[in-house]
Amino acid sequence: MANGKQDYYEVLGVNRNASETEIKKAYRKLALQHHPDKNPGNKEAEEKFKELSEAYAVLSDGQKRATYDQFGHAGLGNGGGFSSGGFGGSPFEDIFGDIFGDIFGGGGSRGGRGRGRRGDDLRYNLSISFEEAAFGMETKVQIPRHQSCDECGGSGARKGTSAKTCPTCQGAGQVRYQQGFFSLTRPCPECAGEGRVIETPCPECRGSGKTKAKKTLALKIPAGVETGNRLKLSGEGDLGVQGGPPGDLYVVITVKEHPIFKREGQDVICETPISFVQAALGCEIEVPTLDGKLKIKVPAGTQSGKVLNLSGKGIPHLQGYGRGDQLVVLRIETPTHLTARQKELLEEFARESGEDVHPMGKSFFDKVKNLFD
Ligand SMILES: [Zn+2]
Ligand SMILES: [Zn+2]
Repeated sequence: MANGKQDYYEVLGVNRNASETEIKKAYRKLALQHHPDKNPGNKEAEEKFKELSEAYAVLSDGQKRATYDQFGHAGLGNGGGFSSGGFGGSPFEDIFGDIFGDIFGGGGSRGGRGRGRRGDDLRYNLSISFEEAAFGMETKVQIPRHQSCDECGGSGARKGTSAKTCPTCQGAGQVRYQQGFFSLTRPCPECAGEGRVIETPCPECRGSGKTKAKKTLALKIPAGVETGNRLKLSGEGDLGVQGGPPGDLYVVITVKEHPIFKREGQDVICETPISFVQAALGCEIEVPTLDGKLKIKVPAGTQSGKVLNLSGKGIPHLQGYGRGDQLVVLRIETPTHLTARQKELLEEFARESGEDVHPMGKSFFDKVKNLFD
């Protein structure tokens, strides 16, 4: 690798097709062994621990792992996309919450060290119509989330009082203890890792400092979105903990099926039935498009499956200019429930028709004949 970085699989000592569980197990074992708390002042262990965390952050994330498998370290250079975000703060916190939470007691995500933790990311599922996806739309949605308690201003302490620094941990949120040779830390039992204690909790929020609320947000959905597209609204997620920044809100889009139109990339597909008489003689038909009805000419002698291209009548490009096309796929409908008179006419028509009016059929049956001769 160009930048001399060690292979992530080697760092964790697993092979390339290791399962998620194997990766997690390997990381847990090595991370405990090289954890800075167990190796105070040991630079080598610290370095190793960093490498392990980085390798785990990538290999435990299906998408990042796939990118890494394909492009190596180079593929992870710039997060790109919506939420990959490189190796910033939060992915690590998630991992520590997950892996160390249960080992160092306390459990849950409120680990000792993170004062001012970032709020949770929220997901909102938005279902929109085919036309709304094509042309974009604006809507208002209500997002249930927490907000800072008005009564106590988010402190959690009754109005007129304030939280005080935890006397047990002096506000650190964690306490050290000795186990054999090791000095370990765990969340402070007095304040549950908060670093402060509230003697008279606010009655409105029962000391949590937050209340449930519904925030109304105006959303602008751009033209050309598809099912699965995510819209990120930075800072519109859940309230941060103890002054930490709020999380992000992800609006995940589902486009409802249309009774007539199907979508393929930026093109709109519309299957349109015509009668065999119309197909044989040619005709003018009216087809629906995203912009309303449109008259088009069907040439005489049109075969089933023929595609007519309506240029620029498709879906606008999400990032860029112009629109796709509408593809009108003609399906020739064989008549059913014939009257005696209609049958008579068709039989007469058949007697009248030599092979030269059905060149496709002639060529096909000639080939069949050759096959068995
Ligand atoms: Zn309150
Ligand atoms: Zn404490």
